[in-house]
Amino acid sequence: MSAALGLFRLQQVDRQMDQTLARLNVIQQTLGNDSELRAVLDQVEAAKAEDARAEKSLREAEAAVQSQQVKIEQAESSLYGGRVHNPKELQDLQSDIAALKRFLSTLEERQLESMLAAETAQAALQHAESALTELQSRRGSEHSLLIGEQASLSKKVERLQVERQAAANDIPAPSRELYERLRQQRRGIAVAEVTDNTCSACGTPVTAALQQSARSTTQITHCSSCGRILYAN
Ligand SMILES: [Zn+2]
Repeated sequence: MSAALGLFRLQQVDRQMDQTLARLNVIQQTLGNDSELRAVLDQVEAAKAEDARAEKSLREAEAAVQSQQVKIEQAESSLYGGRVHNPKELQDLQSDIAALKRFLSTLEERQLESMLAAETAQAALQHAESALTELQSRRGSEHSLLIGEQASLSKKVERLQVERQAAANDIPAPSRELYERLRQQRRGIAVAEVTDNTCSACGTPVTAALQQSARSTTQITHCSSCGRILYAN
């Protein structure tokens, strides 16, 4: 076995581990992120408050209409009850009644507006509540898929740790240290395979002599351009 082959295999395990851990990290963040849910909950709260406000104004408008109707009834019973005989008083009562009735129609218009506003608020609340129900069921199924994936990736991490241990065992300590250092410096790729007579990491041509030394069982050969360990099979 060439000196580079052991490192190349180790790197294959390490790269799988990197990908697995990156995906686990994304899942963790998705499961922890509830900003969408919070936004919908805020909308429901706002719609509830608006609905309560609209209901309250409607009740007030209804009460105002009723009390105006009572005032008119009282004034009319004085007018027709036969207790008032003075023509001036009778005339005053009649004009009071006319004024009360004019204001009644204003109050009735306000009641109608309040009724429409209450209906609009009610519809908005129902809309927000069904958006919440929909989001909760969607999140429920998305989350259970992610939780399943998380469990199988965690098993994969355990398996890769065992594989890594086995792959690292046969490699001399100085080579492992060199590998770790290059992996940090070269964005996770310390060992580059020679394919089509070039370094697969940087694309630089690799001479036949260098390829020969990359197959050596004792020494490690570096790419003349990127400095990575060359592996040729
Ligand atoms: Zn290279």
